[in-house]
Amino acid sequence: MSSVTYLDNNATTQVAPEVFEAMLPWLCESYGNPSSVYRLGRQASAALDDARARVAALAGCQEGEVIFTSCGTESINTAILSALALDPDKRHIVTSAVEHSATVKLCEHLAQRGYEITWLPVDSLGLLDPADLEKAITDETAIVSLMWANNETGVLFPVEEISSITHRHKVVLHLDAVQAFGKVPIDLDSLGVEFVSFSGHKIYAPKGVGALYANRRVRYTPLLRGSQEEGRRGGTQNVASIVAFGKATELAGIPLDTSTLKHLRDRLESHLLSTIPGVVRNGHADLRLPNTSNLSFEGIESEAALILLDERGICCSAGSACSSGSVHPSHVLKAMGLSNDMARSSLRFSVGRLTSEADIDAACKAIPLVISRLREVSPAGSPVLTA
Ligand code: PLP
Repeated sequence: MSSVTYLDNNATTQVAPEVFEAMLPWLCESYGNPSSVYRLGRQASAALDDARARVAALAGCQEGEVIFTSCGTESINTAILSALALDPDKRHIVTSAVEHSATVKLCEHLAQRGYEITWLPVDSLGLLDPADLEKAITDETAIVSLMWANNETGVLFPVEEISSITHRHKVVLHLDAVQAFGKVPIDLDSLGVEFVSFSGHKIYAPKGVGALYANRRVRYTPLLRGSQEEGRRGGTQNVASIVAFGKATELAGIPLDTSTLKHLRDRLESHLLSTIPGVVRNGHADLRLPNTSNLSFEGIESEAALILLDERGICCSAGSACSSGSVHPSHVLKAMGLSNDMARSSLRFSVGRLTSEADIDAACKAIPLVISRLREVSPAGSPVLTA
């Protein structure tokens, strides 16, 4: 494979070499079904226990509260549908206007089936006002489902305040921590939340493995019925990928050290902001993930920028990776009040553990060239703004 400068770690991450090594024996040598009683099965079952302990350690919860799933999307669907199934008289869901499509699409589907959905707004920096949540909760509210960290801007929601509000109102809270896990400290034992979703492929494990935290006191009903995961998620566990997920959480380290991520992200961002005119940061400068930078480059189409950057070996994203096939402006940036033009001119750069200083050097060189090339050919011409 030709060398690439990979700045799209919020879309997915490379499987870390140590993670790959840890998962290999569970494919061809120790391939037993963890439900089998003979030694191969018992070995697989012990490997699941070990991975569960590691995930629980990084999430700050009890091992028995971690249910392995196939992905973050499955975890999100399970949490929301469980709360609705257990309280069928309550037909109101509170979420936000900037959620990942896993939540948005499920809520849109539920709206068509008669549920009432409140989409909480965010301000121009992507921040959520807890007072809006307080006002939105009613006696009909079955669940509040909000992101911990936004995948497009990295902006963090005030999860402690959110949790104390839902606690006071005795409403089930689900947090989508797919982007937050491994990037900000998480201590679920002290947070007091009912459900939290995680995904392996954002933290250097393979795609196709995730986890759902279900607080041991929460009433729960599975999405996939079967005997595995103590009846909480049917389907033979993906042992190799779960082992990989466990190893990846161990590599993330406890306590987390994200200073290198922040250094690399800030070096790239300040270079682009200071050398290219007409660049605006989307999202709060401090209340965001240490690895994410979302910038609008006035006068360009981000889809065109992606192609020119790809020719130079730079991988990044225009808005969310999951919707990058579409030319619609990002719903996240629109909810923050950006014009269609500014939203369509945004690029997301997300560094990761495997990003090097040389990657940042390459990006600092290539991005200004691509932006000025696009502005030369753009009918709008170059912007008069300076950074
Ligand atoms: N939630 C957020 C915030 C995400 O960024 C993603 C993936 O991009 C998901 C949920 C879905 O996770 P998965 O790809 O594991 O289904």
